[in-house]
Amino acid sequence: MTTLHHDLAATDAPRTPVTMTTPGSLGEALALLAGGQAAAVGGGVGHTLARQARRPPRATTLVPVASLPELTAVTWSDDHVTVGAGLRLSAVEADTRLRAAWPVVTEAVGSVATARIRRMVTLGGNIAAADDSHDPPVALAAAGALLTVRSARSTRTLRITDAADLRAGELIQDIRLPLPAHGQTGSAYEKFLVRGVWEYACVNVAAVVHLDDSGTVERLTVAVGSVTGGPVLVDLAGLRGGTVDSALTEEAARRAAAGTRPYGDVRGSAPYKSRMIAEFTRRAVTRAALRAAEGAGR
Ligand SMILES: Cc1cc2nc3c(=O)[nH]c(=O)nc-3n(C[C@H](O)[C@H](O)[C@H](O)COP(=O)(O)OP(=O)(O)OC[C@H]3O[C@@H](n4cnc5c(N)ncnc54)[C@H](O)[C@@H]3O)c2cc1C
Repeated sequence: MTTLHHDLAATDAPRTPVTMTTPGSLGEALALLAGGQAAAVGGGVGHTLARQARRPPRATTLVPVASLPELTAVTWSDDHVTVGAGLRLSAVEADTRLRAAWPVVTEAVGSVATARIRRMVTLGGNIAAADDSHDPPVALAAAGALLTVRSARSTRTLRITDAADLRAGELIQDIRLPLPAHGQTGSAYEKFLVRGVWEYACVNVAAVVHLDDSGTVERLTVAVGSVTGGPVLVDLAGLRGGTVDSALTEEAARRAAAGTRPYGDVRGSAPYKSRMIAEFTRRAVTRAALRAAEGAGR
């Protein structure tokens, strides 16, 4: 479900005073969050207070974290790239090296709302909101991203699909993406909008295909969003070892529709969304396979 909520308190209801405390360091931010009465603020667009009101105790201190150096860096190593959780979606979208490695991520980030909103919101805030219809988490799930999660006491790693397990006092520091293996890897993101203009997805699908030198599928991953418990990684066990043909694409589409549980809402009934999941899985897998064949994802 989307983050645009209508359950804000009435404007004449008594309000608890809220303070904004800007931390000078990551350690200070974590200490503030450990108090239990504080909430992190990324872009601040996702109605942090409204969200916190449903997740008691309600925050009385807001802690802006997007400018902390540990949350704003993009660093590359031989086998992975680490993207700071405080980066604005516009900055993630503009990273040409990331686009070359993981076009699925760039496409998903670039499909969020409008350019003006993407300049305000952060990758970490988008993930921490744990909204099944958000776009970046679907692509990051397909790409095998992991979250570095910090608290005053510990550092742990979470899968994107477990973002809802973030605990009070925890902060997403960065998102770590494995670099595609050498060879022919392609990836693609498909967001289906009912109205055709910017809005939350009716369904969203991300696909990653890796081919070996002979064109045989070594890896096929599909993630589906806007479904219960999403993003959901589809079980495609056994769909390797052949070529990407219509039979394989159809089977991936069938499993994506059968293995996910969309809910009926203003964007469509559950059965309609299941058909759209199948269709957009076909498109995502086909585009990812074309890119893999061209070596576009290398
Ligand atoms: C009009 C509109 C349209 C939108 N359309 C889309 C869309 O099409 N697709 C889409 O994917 N999204 C969409 N969004 C959501 C948007 O992309 C952001 O994800 C969302 O607004 C929150 O991002 P933020 O950086 O503002 O986070 P905030 O509002 O600052 O925080 C959101 C939540 O995450 C927590 N948080 C923030 N940063 C961290 C961190 N580093 N670690 C742990 N917790 C943290 C906060 O405490 C809060 O609970 C839309 C939003 C709006 C307002």
